[in-house]
Amino acid sequence: MKHKDWIFSSLAQWGMELIFPRRCPVCGQIVQPSGELICATCFLQLSPVKSPVCRKCGKEVLGDHYEYCPDCMRRQRTFDSGMALFNYNEAARRSMAAIKYKNRREYLDFYGAALSRRFSKIVGHWQADCLIPVPIHPSRRRQRGFNQAEELAKRLEKSWNIPVCSQILIRNRKTVPQRDLNPSERLKNLREAFRLHPDCCKNLVHFFPKTVILIDDIYTTGSTIEACARVLKAAGVQRVYFLVVCIGTAK
Ligand SMILES: [Zn+2]
Ligand SMILES: [Zn+2]
Repeated sequence: MKHKDWIFSSLAQWGMELIFPRRCPVCGQIVQPSGELICATCFLQLSPVKSPVCRKCGKEVLGDHYEYCPDCMRRQRTFDSGMALFNYNEAARRSMAAIKYKNRREYLDFYGAALSRRFSKIVGHWQADCLIPVPIHPSRRRQRGFNQAEELAKRLEKSWNIPVCSQILIRNRKTVPQRDLNPSERLKNLREAFRLHPDCCKNLVHFFPKTVILIDDIYTTGSTIEACARVLKAAGVQRVYFLVVCIGTAK
């Protein structure tokens, strides 16, 4: 960027901050100190995922001698592997809910920047052709006005220069809320939920991704990512990785 452009864009950003001061993704108040994406003290309420982690899903495991978490040992995993940023604790739960139900899309600036910083190296190894946000049902999208996974993917697209393909996967039908179901009911509920966009193969005849990274906000038992991975692999995608903001256990 030229020096003059840089000054203008910094001034514009400063002006925006004055008019719409940035709010913290954890407390919802104006960020302290200003200029940051999260309050220094609120960051401590989040719980970054620490090693050792499951080699499949990236969830924390109890010790170095565990290669996989109990969920990944028990269930078939069609996806290759994935990573998560934070454990899904109470602060993370409130923050994720505010994004979706209170239209706090700006919080994704912090989560996007944090994902980008933390996983740049592994994303470099994966050599993905595109980022695929986990789709939500069109009626939910209309109601909410956006898909949080897609908003997140757009932020990552800029930092990693990997294109977002939002058109490949579509959500077929409204599913029963996943939190009310046990893991095998979840997968059954999701089995028919995703499919390839009917025009996808036509449009992608010159570009069909070999390696993709699914992007989502929350991973619990992994049934959503698994359902997407099955559809993608059946269509010929060779490697399916995922990145999520939060990872936790089902209630
Ligand atoms: Zn805060
Ligand atoms: Zn696992």
